[in-house]
Amino acid sequence: LKKRKIAVLGSRSVGKSSLIVQFVENHFIESYYPTIESTFTKSVPYKGTEYDCEIIDTAGQDEYSLLGPKHAIGIHGYVLVYSITSRKSFNMVQIIYDKIIDFCGVMDIPCVIVGAKMDLKNSRQVTPAEGQQLAEANKAAWIETSAKTNVNVGNVFEMCLAEIEKR
Ligand code: GDP
Ligand code: MG
Repeated sequence: LKKRKIAVLGSRSVGKSSLIVQFVENHFIESYYPTIESTFTKSVPYKGTEYDCEIIDTAGQDEYSLLGPKHAIGIHGYVLVYSITSRKSFNMVQIIYDKIIDFCGVMDIPCVIVGAKMDLKNSRQVTPAEGQQLAEANKAAWIETSAKTNVNVGNVFEMCLAEIEKR
C-alpha cells in the first residue's frame, strides 16, 4: 500500500469540490460551501498497486492569496483546476503553478491541469488546444472533465498518480 497526498487547487467555483466529491462519493453536488477546506481519502488501484490517496480540497486561490505549507509540504502531486467557461480561472492556473514552484524551490512538479465543466459547451471560453499548450509549457498532464455528467473524473486522479510515479 502506497500513500499519496494530492492537493486540488484553482480559482473559486471552478468545480474543485464537485470533482473530488464525484470521484470519492460518486455523486454530483449542486452547491458546496465555497470556503470549506477538507481532506478526502480513497483507495485507488493503479497498475496493480493499491494507492491510499489523501485528496486535499482547498477554498480556492487568487492572485493575492499566498500558498501555505499545507499546500506544499508533503504533497506528492497537484491537480490544478480551471473552468472551460472562465478565461480568468485559466490564467490563474499558471499563477498558482508558479507559486508552487517558487514555494517548493523546484523546477517542476507532478501535475495534472484540469479543464472542468466541459458539459457547458455553449459557455466555453478556453479551447482544448489552449489547455494542452499550457500543460506542455509546464511539463504537466492535461484533461477536460465534467463532474456533472461524470466524464473523465477518475482519469484525473489516475493521471496524477502516473505523473507522481514518473519522477
Ligand atoms: P469549487 O469552489 O472550485 O470547489 O467549485 P464547486 O465544486 O463548489 O462548484 C461551483 C459551482 O459549479 C457549483 O454550483 C457546481 O454545481 C458547479 N459545477 C461544478 N462542476 C460542474 C460541472 O462539471 N458541470 C457543471 N455544469 N457545473 C459544475
Ligand atoms: Mg470547493
